[in-house]
Amino acid sequence: MPASWRSPGPDHWAIEDPDTRYGPEVALVVVDVQNDFADPAGSLSVGGGAEVVPLVNGEVERALAAGAAVAYTQDWHPAHTPHFAPDGGIWPVHCVGGTWGAELHPDLSVRGPIVRKGSHGEDGYSGFSMRNPSGGLPIPTELDATLARGGVKRLVVCGLATDYCVKATALDGVRLGYETAVLLEAVRAVNLEPGDGDRALDEMAAAGVRLVGTSTATG
Ligand SMILES: [Zn+2]
Repeated sequence: MPASWRSPGPDHWAIEDPDTRYGPEVALVVVDVQNDFADPAGSLSVGGGAEVVPLVNGEVERALAAGAAVAYTQDWHPAHTPHFAPDGGIWPVHCVGGTWGAELHPDLSVRGPIVRKGSHGEDGYSGFSMRNPSGGLPIPTELDATLARGGVKRLVVCGLATDYCVKATALDGVRLGYETAVLLEAVRAVNLEPGDGDRALDEMAAAGVRLVGTSTATG
């Protein structure tokens, strides 16, 4: 990965032993590892998106072994929403509920609750909140309540995509009072503009998100 990803410094970019990452007050949040994002044939395919699947699966095993919770988010849109370009938004049609593109990647290990977002035409970037694309107040998903019921205090976020749904989920996590980390090896960016992924990581670090890698060889 580019050296700039490490620029926030050791407070934010930490090398961590993955075996010490999880415990009963931790939740692994797997963001949008769905065919339209992760499969090269997906309508909003993220470069290298499928590469995160085995890494995420390893995290799922570690998390469950340590008594942590695991939760998944799933973009789940109606066929028409102002989130989509044909209806005035910015995105190609993706993750339409009930289609192949909206399914979680077939190789993903699914071992916890799935929180859907965007079902009623909201944008649904964050796993925690959605917003009508034309404005208005954020609408909470059930993710925060689900995690709070389980006594979760820390989040480990991974999945797709760094510069949209991972970022929005991590920023909401901090806003909601969770100690939040993002796994650098298990996220990938859309990069609509070059550097969007790096800028998203900087923004998350500035908000207090810990950016975590497992070794110096992550580049
Ligand atoms: Zn979407």
